[in-house]
Amino acid sequence: MDIILLGPPGAGKGTQAQRLEQQRGMRQLSTGDMLRAAVKAGTPVGLKAKAVMERGELVSDEIVSELIDAELTAMGASTGAIFDGYPRTAAQAASLDEILASHGRSLDHVIELEVDEDALVERITGRFTCASCGAGYHDTFKQPVVEGVCDSCGGTEFKRRPDDNEETVRTRMAEYRAKTAPILPIYEERGIVSRVDGMASIDEVTGAIDAILG
Ligand SMILES: [Zn+2]
Repeated sequence: MDIILLGPPGAGKGTQAQRLEQQRGMRQLSTGDMLRAAVKAGTPVGLKAKAVMERGELVSDEIVSELIDAELTAMGASTGAIFDGYPRTAAQAASLDEILASHGRSLDHVIELEVDEDALVERITGRFTCASCGAGYHDTFKQPVVEGVCDSCGGTEFKRRPDDNEETVRTRMAEYRAKTAPILPIYEERGIVSRVDGMASIDEVTGAIDAILG
């Protein structure tokens, strides 16, 4: 079973991918991670990528294809792949088909975790943590029992991540839409796209994905 998992930052894609790895023995193939690992391990394709990056150039589609090909060979036929952040263009989608076919595989599902943008803004901008122990809170969903005092350690200092602001969230959403716009129609046409409500609880999202994968 090979799938593409789509969703904007904050939709919980990482958590769901992790669960698929643990529960179904699948492997998440993030091109960024694969690239870093290949460079570090000094594999042939890693060395090629390293040279390109040292010249300050972008890693080509061809190198990315080689990375995926090598990874699929290493994984073996029985391990399902979760593609994350790839493909992003029609050309990449076509080469992914080719690579998979050369391994006797094909894409089974494209699952998009859908989010409501305004609700996502509320979810992300409301997050804060205790500065002493790191306990997580939320303006709307999880205030400390005593205002201004951490439930876990009694600390009174809290902090927010600078990225957790409305502008950043909206920019990321726009980037996400721009990135997926070229590839979604390709998979829609094949009838393999499913959408899951990414605003539901983590367990509910997992349940919905399970139902799709069967
Ligand atoms: Zn605390």
